[in-house]
Amino acid sequence: MKKIIPLSLLLTLCISCATTKEAVAQDNSDPTKYMATITANELKTHLYIVASDGMEGRETGSAGQKRAGEYLINQYVKNGISFPKGATNFYQSIPAAYLNAKRDEGLSDSENIWAFIEGSEKPEEVVVISAHYDHVGVKNGDVYNGADDDGSGTVALLEIAQAFETAKKEGHGPKRSILFLHVTGEEHGLHGSRYYSENPLFPLANTITDINIDMIGRRDDFHPDSNNYVYLIGADRLSTDLNKICLAANEKYTHMNLDFKYNDPMDPQHFYERSDHYNFAKNGIPSVFIFNGVHADYHKKTDTPDKIEYDALAKRAQLAFTIAWELANRENRPVVDKK
Ligand SMILES: [Zn+2]
Repeated sequence: MKKIIPLSLLLTLCISCATTKEAVAQDNSDPTKYMATITANELKTHLYIVASDGMEGRETGSAGQKRAGEYLINQYVKNGISFPKGATNFYQSIPAAYLNAKRDEGLSDSENIWAFIEGSEKPEEVVVISAHYDHVGVKNGDVYNGADDDGSGTVALLEIAQAFETAKKEGHGPKRSILFLHVTGEEHGLHGSRYYSENPLFPLANTITDINIDMIGRRDDFHPDSNNYVYLIGADRLSTDLNKICLAANEKYTHMNLDFKYNDPMDPQHFYERSDHYNFAKNGIPSVFIFNGVHADYHKKTDTPDKIEYDALAKRAQLAFTIAWELANRENRPVVDKK
């Protein structure tokens, strides 16, 4: 016999179910509180470890790089952030044969490292935030610490991930998924990001943007009087939306001088083609490269953590975070409207 539920009970059930629904609807309009968890102090603590002599300059495939990788993974585990769905651990292994295919540099097997926060509403759409964690190793007995290149981007990813996870624990998790991708082999020719783009864990068609961070802890000769600036490269090359999102995030939250000098396709430095976002951009994925420019210690043993301007590093990491936040939570993914 079918059970008859009294009308009054039915009404109560419906009302309570409506209230529950309302309670779980996420309002992710304000990232300010979480942005503030990205601090100069925490970045400094991480960077003094990632760029320490003990990591031996993080040459691709070296023991020092693997030690740095273990440190990164330990931070994700500590923060309760897992490796991506569909992966069996934090590593995307890349065989030496692949790393040496274009030019045999005798590199050993190496790994990209990935961490993941699943989206609550559109989990199949993914924002990638990338930074390379390799550098150039030890030369003539000198450790090349690579604090700015790209220790700065590496530790920014840790802090950005922690900010998203904190938001998630308070009911403000991202609506789209976020993949934190520490790529290897950048210094030898963007190998790790190219490997990911050829062996993506999530379909590239659902990868809505790559935000790439490479060198954000220093200032260059064009900005001697203030570190309150950052170069944005590539945001408008494929998507008017992405460019607008970057501008709006800075205007609303970080208030830096955005410098578009290197975004000029005619610029002789061609930075657009020189870091890992390019392997996403060439596949039609809107990409933005966040960068402080080069300086006297670029690719020298003197690129050390004591020379980093941690206030600037924090602000640039916060900008990356607020851009990612908007991308993850806005109604529509950025439209690709340019070639
Ligand atoms: Zn670099």
